[in-house]
Amino acid sequence: MAIDFDIPPEAKAIRERVRQWVHDECKPAEKKVTSKEAYKQVLADLRAKARAQGLWNPFVPKEYGGMGLGPLANALVQMELGESFLGALSMNTQGPDDATIMTLIAHGSEFQKEKYLKPLLNGEKRICYSMTEKASGADATGMQTRAEKKGNSTYVLNGEKWFSSAASVADIALVMAKTNPDAPRHQQFSTFLVELPNPGYRIVRDIETMAAHTEIGDIMGGGHSEVRIENLEVPAENLLGGEGNGFNMGQHRLAYGRLRHGMHNVAMAQRALDLAVEYITKRETFGKKVADRQGVQWMIAECASQLYIARLMLMHIAYKAEKGLDLRQENGIAKVFLANMVHKVVDTAIQLHGALGYSMDTPLARWYTGIRAQRLVDGPDEVHKWTTGRNVIKAFQKYGTTASAAGGDLL
Ligand SMILES: Cc1cc2nc3c(=O)[nH]c(=O)nc-3n(C[C@H](O)[C@H](O)[C@H](O)COP(=O)(O)OP(=O)(O)OC[C@H]3O[C@@H](n4cnc5c(N)ncnc54)[C@H](O)[C@@H]3O)c2cc1C
Repeated sequence: MAIDFDIPPEAKAIRERVRQWVHDECKPAEKKVTSKEAYKQVLADLRAKARAQGLWNPFVPKEYGGMGLGPLANALVQMELGESFLGALSMNTQGPDDATIMTLIAHGSEFQKEKYLKPLLNGEKRICYSMTEKASGADATGMQTRAEKKGNSTYVLNGEKWFSSAASVADIALVMAKTNPDAPRHQQFSTFLVELPNPGYRIVRDIETMAAHTEIGDIMGGGHSEVRIENLEVPAENLLGGEGNGFNMGQHRLAYGRLRHGMHNVAMAQRALDLAVEYITKRETFGKKVADRQGVQWMIAECASQLYIARLMLMHIAYKAEKGLDLRQENGIAKVFLANMVHKVVDTAIQLHGALGYSMDTPLARWYTGIRAQRLVDGPDEVHKWTTGRNVIKAFQKYGTTASAAGGDLL
C-alpha cells in the first residue's frame, strides 16, 4: 500500500484560508506599522477581522473558544503564519503566550482559568515565561529563585530571572521557583502566576541583543528582560499545577514552543527563497542573469532541499502527534534542523542579494540577526543532540540497529 500524503480536505481548506489571510491582510498591514499607536490600531483591527472570520486561537479546543485544530491542521496553519510578523499575532497564537495557554488549559484550576486564561484567549492580555536565570539556562534545574510559604495563603519569592521574552509588554508572568530544595532534582520547582506590573517583579532592563535594532522592533516592544524578584508575594491560589510540578509543566510547554518556532521558520525560509529567486531572475552581471549561473542554481537547490526536508519532518511529527505516538526523538532532531535550516536559507538569500541583502531595505537582515537565537532558545543545539545521540546508542543496544531513533519507523 502506498504512503498517503494527501492532506485531509478540511485541513487543506483551513490552510488555504490562512494563506489568503496572511497574503491579503497581514502582509499589507505590515507597512502600516509606523508607530506604537499605529501598531496597536493595526493589530486591533486585524484581530477583530480575524476573529469575526473564525480565525482565532487555532489549536485551542472549541470548548475554550478556539478553532480546535489537531496537530496536522495546526502545523499547516502555523507554517503559513510565519510569513508575516503580524501573522501569529493576528490570530492570537504568538509565542510565548501560546504554549502557556496550553499549560493553563491542561493544569489550571477553575479560578485560574477564569481569571488568567480567559483574557489570554480573548487576546486582552499577554503572558511571559520566567524560567531562565543567569545562574542556569540549558540545565534549568540549577535555578536559584526561591519560593517560601508564608502562612497558608501566600508564597514569597526571591531571586532573579533573565531573558524573559515579552515581559515588558506582559500583564502576567509565569515564574518558576524552587519550593523544596530537598526533593528529587526535577520535583524541587513550582510555577506561579504573577500579575504585572508588580513591585516584587522588577524589570531591570530589556537586554540589548544582537537582533537588529529596528524601528519595527522598537514599535512592537517586548524584548527579553532581566528581572529582579524581591519579596514577591504570590497568593497560594496562583500556584499552577501543584507544588513540585513546575519542571514537568515547563517541559510540556517547551515541547510545543520548539515545534512552533520550526513551523514559522518554514514560512520565513520560503519567503526568503522567493525573494532571492525574484532578485536573481532580474539581476544581470557580466552579461548574464545571476539566475543563469550553475553555481547559483546549486545554492538555491540546497535551500529547496532544506525546505523540503523541513516540511517532511514537520508533517511526520504532526502525523505522530495525531496518532498519539511518541515523537520526542523526532521533535529534538527537527528542533535543531529547523533552526539551522532557516539560518542557512536566509543567509543564502542575503548572499544572493549582495549589498541589498545586508541593508535594511529587505527584511532579510532583520530576520538573520533574529533567528540566530533559535539555536539557543528552548534548549541549545548541543543539548538536543546530546539527547538524540544517546537515544541512537540506546536503540542500537536494544534492537541491534539505530533505525528506530533515525526516522526508521517511516519505512
Ligand atoms: C532570544 C531568547 C529568548 C529567550 N526567551 C526565554 C523566555 O521567554 N523564558 C525563559 O525562561 N528563557 C528564555 N531564554 C533563555 C533560553 O532558554 C536559554 O538561553 C537556553 O536554555 C540556554 O541557556 P543558557 O543561555 O544559560 O546557556 P548555558 O546553560 O550557559 O549553556 C551555554 C552553552 O553550553 C553548551 N552546553 C550546555 N549544556 C550542554 C551539554 N549538556 N552538552 C553540550 N553542550 C552543552 C551549549 O552550546 C550552550 O549554548 C531565551 C533566550 C534567548 C536567546
